[in-house]
Amino acid sequence: MFQQYRQLKAAYGDALLLFRLGDFYELFGEDARLGASVLGITLTSREIGKGRRVPMCGVPYHAADGYIAELVRAGHRVAICEQMEDPKLARGVVRREVIRVITPGTWTGETGRERRYLAAVYVADGMAGVAFADLSTGELRATRLAPGSDPSWGGPEQALVEELRRLGATEVLVPPPLESPIRQSLGAADGSPVVTAWDGGPWDLPAARRVLLDHFGVASLEAFGIERWPQAQVAAGVALAYMRETQKDRLVHITSLESYDPGAGLVIDPTSALNLELTLTLRQRSRRGSLLDVLDETLTGPGARLLRRYVEEPLTDPGVIHERLERVDRLFHDHLLRGRLRAALKGLPDAQRLLGRCGTGRATPKDLVALRQFLQQGQAALATAQALVDRPPDERLVELAQTLERALVEDPPAQARDGGYIRRGYDSHLDELRQGAEDARSWIAGLEQRERERTGIRSLKVGFNRVFGYYLEVTRPNLKLVPPEYERRQTLTGAERFVTPELKEKESQVLNAEEAIATLEAQIFTTLVDRVLELAPSIQELARELALLDVAASLAEVAVRRGWTRPAVDDGDVIEIRRGRHPMVEASLSESPFVPNDVYLDTRSHRLAIVTGPNMGGKSTFLRQTALIVILAQMGSFVPAAHARIGIVDRVMARVGASDDLASGRSTFMVEMGETAYMLRHATRRSLVILDEVGRGTATYDGLSLAWAIVEALHELGARTLVATHYHELTELEGRLEGVFNVHAAVAQTAAGIAFLRQIRPGAADRSYGLEVARLAGIPEAVVGRAREILERLEGAAVSPLQSGAGTPALAAASDGVARPERAQGPRPQPRSRRSVAELAQGSLF
Ligand code: ADP
Repeated sequence: MFQQYRQLKAAYGDALLLFRLGDFYELFGEDARLGASVLGITLTSREIGKGRRVPMCGVPYHAADGYIAELVRAGHRVAICEQMEDPKLARGVVRREVIRVITPGTWTGETGRERRYLAAVYVADGMAGVAFADLSTGELRATRLAPGSDPSWGGPEQALVEELRRLGATEVLVPPPLESPIRQSLGAADGSPVVTAWDGGPWDLPAARRVLLDHFGVASLEAFGIERWPQAQVAAGVALAYMRETQKDRLVHITSLESYDPGAGLVIDPTSALNLELTLTLRQRSRRGSLLDVLDETLTGPGARLLRRYVEEPLTDPGVIHERLERVDRLFHDHLLRGRLRAALKGLPDAQRLLGRCGTGRATPKDLVALRQFLQQGQAALATAQALVDRPPDERLVELAQTLERALVEDPPAQARDGGYIRRGYDSHLDELRQGAEDARSWIAGLEQRERERTGIRSLKVGFNRVFGYYLEVTRPNLKLVPPEYERRQTLTGAERFVTPELKEKESQVLNAEEAIATLEAQIFTTLVDRVLELAPSIQELARELALLDVAASLAEVAVRRGWTRPAVDDGDVIEIRRGRHPMVEASLSESPFVPNDVYLDTRSHRLAIVTGPNMGGKSTFLRQTALIVILAQMGSFVPAAHARIGIVDRVMARVGASDDLASGRSTFMVEMGETAYMLRHATRRSLVILDEVGRGTATYDGLSLAWAIVEALHELGARTLVATHYHELTELEGRLEGVFNVHAAVAQTAAGIAFLRQIRPGAADRSYGLEVARLAGIPEAVVGRAREILERLEGAAVSPLQSGAGTPALAAASDGVARPERAQGPRPQPRSRRSVAELAQGSLF
């Protein structure tokens, strides 16, 4: 057996080998040490001859799923090795095979409604190919990343790492030479994929193409739109081959390969997505409280996953956006239709996952019953939405549903091995076998009574045990009445057990029939699964259609509940929002109502707003809601505003000044500047940029100078921009740079101090109210008073950066109207700020 173990272990060396031994999966050697420590189970050892022992640990097979989950979550690969024959019948060592390798990216457990991507990447000729696959649903998509006309192209490795970050993957397959560069660029941050260098993968075009052509049974990849993207073909071929290799299955449920162009839609880089809390919140990194959370009223798994895609990948084509909005609009106004459709979708089984289980050989009778329910309920749901999608029911699917209904009992056992799930009347041979078993069983059931009467032994009993099978039990005092044909089998203290030839015959009839029934049921089951897989493309299509309806109905539902309106989306450059609200902040407010705000941006006279006002004044909220409304509009959703006109945006970039929220080892200022650099390289005239207190992570003048220069650069790009800042000096750009204008978060002075109005008004804030906010936050009165003293002295001495020669960064409008810091002449003037504060403060203290 150990020889067998070593051979298997050698073939799957990089995986923990779970070796089936009776009712346990055992780990040996180094695997055992590692497994025991990850799983927190006892490490023992086992003798392997001549006094040698190897470490060993094991988990019961019926509870293995939980342990496997833990190993995979910890980033390990697990090879499942099963006994391929009945140990009772085997001669010599039981034959064993690895039936599946479970890796982080191919694990299909515990996904709920979320997705888990396996990615594969490839680089050739200075271009990158990336593929993403979700084994549990059969989704497979690929793209090519090329420099094209992108001036900010940082090379194929950088492009693919960005794409991996954007869509997220649990595991990424790389050709061995790319292993360490990719590992390095991805870093070890939370949520980074496990990098797998797959030596044996089809890492060249002919091999990868063979995998794809063979899998999809086609002669060309034209239909998938990647015929001219060799790098994408390799990535997709490798991903597919890897899944087939690890699953040891053909994966028939993967019916299509989708090509996509990441630059085609509204691009949202991962940092912006997080800053805007699209799918995860900034602080908790949880889905709760994110935009997706507010939007998600979907009723089905495929709907939930599609909605997430809408949020992550909004569109830029007004025509397509209009189509989506049109559907939402219909469902928004037609309450009856929306109600009927949603009622019809409720409880609809997740067909993509069910197909996934069929395709990976893991389907149970319950899954087929669920699939039958999906087919019936799904077609009915589609029929209710006839006003939206006019699609005749697919006859083959109707038939399949009927077949499944006739074949399977209503409530089958969880495991196929428990049997009894094929309905009576579906297969005549099965019925005969069952009848035979039934007759024999009822003969046995009646035996006790018959024998009591025949022999006169009133206490005679018929029983069953695993060793002897059926027997007749007679108590000691009655032994004299036992007829001659009884054969003694077992002696107990007070009784003896017997069999008769006839009882043995009936028993073997029962047992034989049961075995034949189990085999036949399994055969019928396999035929049904094959039939389902044959129709997988049509089932996928129905599931997709229903997911679209689910998402549209969900968006309509949210719009109705929250009082959203339909945005006008066009090719212009105007972003005009009246009475806009922040979807998540509004949802979280319980007492006070949300204060709506207006915004108007274009690429000419209103291209860059400087937003000032006190901390807690509502600046960040205003900035973010503007970006969120644009994203919602471009994904085809209604928006939280009284009125919105959105001129298509190609990228949304949201940058937030260094704060502990984003701290993850690197200096936060460094991170902030890195992100800002990325932004400056990627923003275009069509972009929407949001800068929230950028530059505050360093010394005041450094920060101000940087913020100033960044604002100038964005202004030059012409991107529509909102900048929230505490650097009051920036408000002086209004009137100096075309299109720059000031707005501020208003406050009211009351007897008790200041009150935040959360209203954004034209013009700059008159001051920053830092001390008032400090007082509100509970800083002792004496400290606030003292701060006021210092502030007054500082303000007395302060110099505007626009006045030159005062030791602060001197900025002046150049002849082209663009304000730039003047080049310092001669030795740099000594910044006098720190000394001045000390001098000024000291004067009054002592
Ligand atoms: P700032 O960026 O100016 O420091 P925030 O935008 O972070 O201020 O807002 C602070 C808090 O004020 C938010 O957490 C929210 O609870 C509340 N708030 C902001 N804007 C509004 C609004 N328009 N209506 C109601 N409450 C708001």
